[in-house]
Amino acid sequence: MAKGLIFLGAPGSGKGTQAVGLADTLAIPHISTGDMLRQAIADGTGLGNQAKGYMDRGELVPDQLILGLIEERLGHKDAKAGWILDGFPRNVNQAIFLDELLVNIGHRTHWVINLKVPDEVIVERLLARGRADDNEATIRNRLLVYTEQTAPLMAYYQEQGKLYSLDGNQPVEAIAASLEKLVKP
Ligand code: AMP
Repeated sequence: MAKGLIFLGAPGSGKGTQAVGLADTLAIPHISTGDMLRQAIADGTGLGNQAKGYMDRGELVPDQLILGLIEERLGHKDAKAGWILDGFPRNVNQAIFLDELLVNIGHRTHWVINLKVPDEVIVERLLARGRADDNEATIRNRLLVYTEQTAPLMAYYQEQGKLYSLDGNQPVEAIAASLEKLVKP
């Protein structure tokens, strides 16, 4: 059966780096809604135009812009063998939508990986990264949105027995090794 993995964790927790590496190791697609939205902005599409203001403010873009995008992406042929979701779901409504979608397409989530990193380390990392939405006000708002809307997903997936939390404040290779052990027993 297809291997389904979700990366949780605050912005700057290192989840993007780990998600890309693990997707490569497992030879399954890395699906980042943030990357898809940034691409839409770069292409000047309607979706990009609608999403940009929210992203600049560090808010979540409305669910109706995201849900169809994910449904379409998970329906691609390359996602048949599995997928790693990075940045989706971001709130409980998205998680419920995903669970229903996965039932319909005969997939399931195996693990939800949560990288734990202290707030001060996150702010330091994001300021160093220098992406368009990495200024201090937006970062502060993204952390708030994370705490209020995304962090509750830990309890949601804990209840499903799928949550795997690990210390994200260690060298990239050490985290990658733990993850490989988890997913390739
Ligand atoms: P990321 O690259 O995952 O940090 O996402 C960057 C920005 O894109 C976020 O701050 C949100 O504005 C938007 N975004 C990405 N994924 C989602 C999602 N699943 N739901 C709503 N907004 C999202």
